[in-house]
Amino acid sequence: MYKSTAPSTPLPQPPTPPPPPPEEEIVEHFECPNCGAPIEITPDTLVIVCKYCGYTEFRDPGYEVYVLKALDKAEIERRFWERMKKDPDMAPHVGDIQIVDTTFIYTPFYLADYDAEWYYIGEKTKTEVHGSGKNARVVTKVIKVRGSGSESGRIAIPGRRYVEELGMKELGDAIEQVDEKTLIPAKEYNWEKYIEAVLGFDYEPREIPQMVKDIVAEEIKRRIYKEKNLTKMLAFLCRVKTKSVRAILAPIYVITYKLKGGIYGIAFSGFDGRQLVAMEPVFTKHMIEYTAGAAALASLGAAAAALAAAVQEVHILIVPILSLLGGFYLMHKAVGGVRFER
Ligand SMILES: [Zn+2]
Repeated sequence: MYKSTAPSTPLPQPPTPPPPPPEEEIVEHFECPNCGAPIEITPDTLVIVCKYCGYTEFRDPGYEVYVLKALDKAEIERRFWERMKKDPDMAPHVGDIQIVDTTFIYTPFYLADYDAEWYYIGEKTKTEVHGSGKNARVVTKVIKVRGSGSESGRIAIPGRRYVEELGMKELGDAIEQVDEKTLIPAKEYNWEKYIEAVLGFDYEPREIPQMVKDIVAEEIKRRIYKEKNLTKMLAFLCRVKTKSVRAILAPIYVITYKLKGGIYGIAFSGFDGRQLVAMEPVFTKHMIEYTAGAAALASLGAAAAALAAAVQEVHILIVPILSLLGGFYLMHKAVGGVRFER
């Protein structure tokens, strides 16, 4: 029998160091049940994808997740070519276009239904012309406006940070229009074998009502400003009630292609095949200028870092593609040397 040799009076213990803060970088090692290959997963990994044999496994995050069924890769590439042939700018170059890569990713969104009611008091200026002819003068008056309204709506919110550059906003717009009947519980979904990654959720469903409230109220406020031509909002009250929240994984395809030494990309919604964002060359004599090009290259590093952080668990290949697209996006902002189409 084990005998304790510890003194009866416990010695003062050194203070225990606080536990390390929970970090997303914690990597668990998982062995592929199909081929035995090591797979690295993080706590937010939703679907384990074995890049060696294509094995996929959904991990229940503790809340219901739905999937939008994806069109297959061949169908998206067919749409890519069809689109290129129809575009009068691109059509003459179709023979020179070469697809470099087609990346297929599932991205997390929350779809929420809400009721909103609001009341506001604002100010706007009104200009009037007094008198006529030589005596005419313009008088500017500040007047108060007030109003109220209500609406019911649906909003799609990215379930993850740092994915803005990929056409996420446009994908969100597409998700807002989906028929709920097409949502498939993730547990029952037949995961395709060629997925590059399934990005997990950063936010939990319980955090969504507050986000819906903030986004919807801000949007309504902006709309009132614009519609009523306000110069100032004196008071704004907005009550937003979230009626339902659904976690959804939506597919997105990014086709990267080569043309005349440049690399460009188009993002497609994976469930309905619509084009989300296109970063295309502009066929003019003045392409991107050297200085602006250099500036864009410098910021490309930052974009790459942000995107790499967003896709940590994603297999290494897509990081350069995403950062490349991020770079094009910045370049577009800087000089407009790349056509940015929606
Ligand atoms: Zn495997």
